[in-house]
Amino acid sequence: MASNRKLLVLPGDGIGPEAMKQVRRVVDWFDKRRTVSFDLKEGLVGGASYEKHGTPLTDETMALAQSCDATLFGAVGGPQWDNLPFDKKPERGLLRLRKEMDLFANLRPAIVFEALADASALKRELVAGLDILILRELTGGVYFGEPRGVTTLPDGQKKAVDTQVYTTSEIQRVARVGFELARKRGNRLHSVEKANVMHTGVLWREVVTALHKAEYSDVKLEHMYADNCAMQLVRNPKQFDVIVTDNLFGDILSDCAAMLTGSLGMLPSASLGAPDATGRRKALYEPVHGSAPDIAGKDMANPLATLLSFAMMLRYSFDLADDAALVEQAAKNVLAKGLRTRDIASAGSTVVSTTQMGDALLKELDALAA
Ligand code: NAD
Repeated sequence: MASNRKLLVLPGDGIGPEAMKQVRRVVDWFDKRRTVSFDLKEGLVGGASYEKHGTPLTDETMALAQSCDATLFGAVGGPQWDNLPFDKKPERGLLRLRKEMDLFANLRPAIVFEALADASALKRELVAGLDILILRELTGGVYFGEPRGVTTLPDGQKKAVDTQVYTTSEIQRVARVGFELARKRGNRLHSVEKANVMHTGVLWREVVTALHKAEYSDVKLEHMYADNCAMQLVRNPKQFDVIVTDNLFGDILSDCAAMLTGSLGMLPSASLGAPDATGRRKALYEPVHGSAPDIAGKDMANPLATLLSFAMMLRYSFDLADDAALVEQAAKNVLAKGLRTRDIASAGSTVVSTTQMGDALLKELDALAA
């Protein structure tokens, strides 16, 4: 069926293609059963692209990503490419996609599925039912600010400099995404910085406060220092709904929140760009985990993080919230039946392969759609 939903699939390396294969089965299921179809193209990225083209991302694949509504990305990397020059490394492919599409808003949900609440490092009662969203600014701040680099001082010592920089518009655009997301969820936003010791933190707080007053006063806004936020995330994570923060703090806090859920194999993410004149945002969806070379090729990978990334794509790029919820419910039901890939297995559960997890998901989708 012809479709105006343009989707680029980049499976990548290691377990990326294995997990993506199961998601492709779900995409086919949607095409056949729900007549939700995609104009789907597939490309190479990372080590796979380097082997064929000598670069981790070709200009053609980059252009394809720019022209599609959404890109679904697997994972890149592997020990065989660790010693390549910096610009040939598999990870550069991912960084180029993020940079050239100007994906400034990184969404990292931390959701604890009831059946997996015991896998968290925290007590069940602290995390059962947890559903928070960390929004990290992805293209500014200390990872990109100038000046940066290492210089040698006259006395022979070395000096390293990184610069934390944010402008009003950079803060505004990510805060706006935060308020919009909060409105679609629990209507609460925590804005996190260190205004007590950093000038960028002072500006961040001023800009978020002004935007709140001008456009989003219906959303409950609280400001929090990043160190306190780290503490609160492990003390009482359910107090949060959406957290918006800068690149550096977001990097750390989203990993901290991720571990509340207990498994890397369950964590999806989305990165969004600015809306164009038609309201369309460039978007990249990817699991948080890497290419897991230790289990690659063994049909052992958990495909759920990639699947849940696809669900985020349905929700945020294609406005198909019901279909996204259907995918999420299928995953919940499979877990509730005790079927687990090895990474999330626990006493009494049935360990299944990547393919068997795909089989179970399709069966569950059939049952839900019946
Ligand atoms: P990793 O996420 O690949 O693996 C960490 C551990 O978690 C491994 O033991 C792995 O087996 C396990 N794991 C991860 N995802 C899993 C899944 N879906 N199912 C079951 N088990 C899973 O991180 P790493 O080992 O630090 O990195 C391996 C390679 O991946 C490196 O080359 C690294 O650069 C790359 N990497 C890529 C991305 C990305 O593509 N976005 C992110 C992180 C790391």
